[in-house]
Amino acid sequence: MKQLNEFSIFSNLKQYDTVLGEAVYSSEEVKDKLKNIIEKSSLKSVYNQLSYLIDENIILPCYTSPNFIRSLMNKVFSNKIDKKSYGLYSKNHKKIYIFMSNFSKMFFFVNKNKLIKTLTHELMHYCCAKETSRFISIFKKDLLKFYKTFFINFFEEGENIVENRNLSNILNFLMMNFELRSNINHTALYNYAYVLEKNIQIDDMILKRESIVHLLSPVKIYLQSPKTYMNAITSNQNIRHIITSIYKSYHKINVNSLPDTIPIQEIIFPSEIIAIQSMYDFNNKHIQLLKGI
Ligand SMILES: [Zn+2]
Repeated sequence: MKQLNEFSIFSNLKQYDTVLGEAVYSSEEVKDKLKNIIEKSSLKSVYNQLSYLIDENIILPCYTSPNFIRSLMNKVFSNKIDKKSYGLYSKNHKKIYIFMSNFSKMFFFVNKNKLIKTLTHELMHYCCAKETSRFISIFKKDLLKFYKTFFINFFEEGENIVENRNLSNILNFLMMNFELRSNINHTALYNYAYVLEKNIQIDDMILKRESIVHLLSPVKIYLQSPKTYMNAITSNQNIRHIITSIYKSYHKINVNSLPDTIPIQEIIFPSEIIAIQSMYDFNNKHIQLLKGI
């Protein structure tokens, strides 16, 4: 009960869930408030679908402690809305959380535009897990374009570096071994190295293997500790090369401003690419995906 007192300004809040060991609180009023914001936003054409997900607590706007919000970025792949609110798609819970600290009174201080963009981002992750084959059929072209551009830039090779058939193999591997897994073990990264070696065309085998290690070592660091990865960015030229290659690839799929997330997840999670795209170039394809949920 002590914790609940922190939220005493909203007497009707009750505990709805526990995320990463932390209690989160919400109410029908808070949920209705989010529906109202959606109704007036770029997501209005899928209001009914999202309303249903809010009723079912699959999208849960909730209050939690400021300390927990501050520590989120170091623990999981969450997205900042502002200093006091974050969005998260939890693979374990199969739910989207909009976390707010108890000071952001009923979304009043929350940047609504950023809130909707973040919700759209998390929805892409949710749909990819829930409607995987539809997700792939809608976005396969964009994903293949992204990965091809990425490999050309990262390995500094020409168009022949990878054929479409090989790109599809890589994409399928990523879906099965990273995207749809809630726990990723390091064997998956070794297998990824093998899949890349097999599907990428570079004549110099030693150079190819070396480059693959340069690509996957930062991913390993990131999976162990997002914070260590973020701290290494400025000093590590290799990571900067990866990030530049990711930015060039976003450009190819109409993301023309630099995303304010820290790039790296794209290398193993295809849904991150579409989640970012939905924030910067929200189009009919994203609507089509959401209409089917
Ligand atoms: Zn994401």
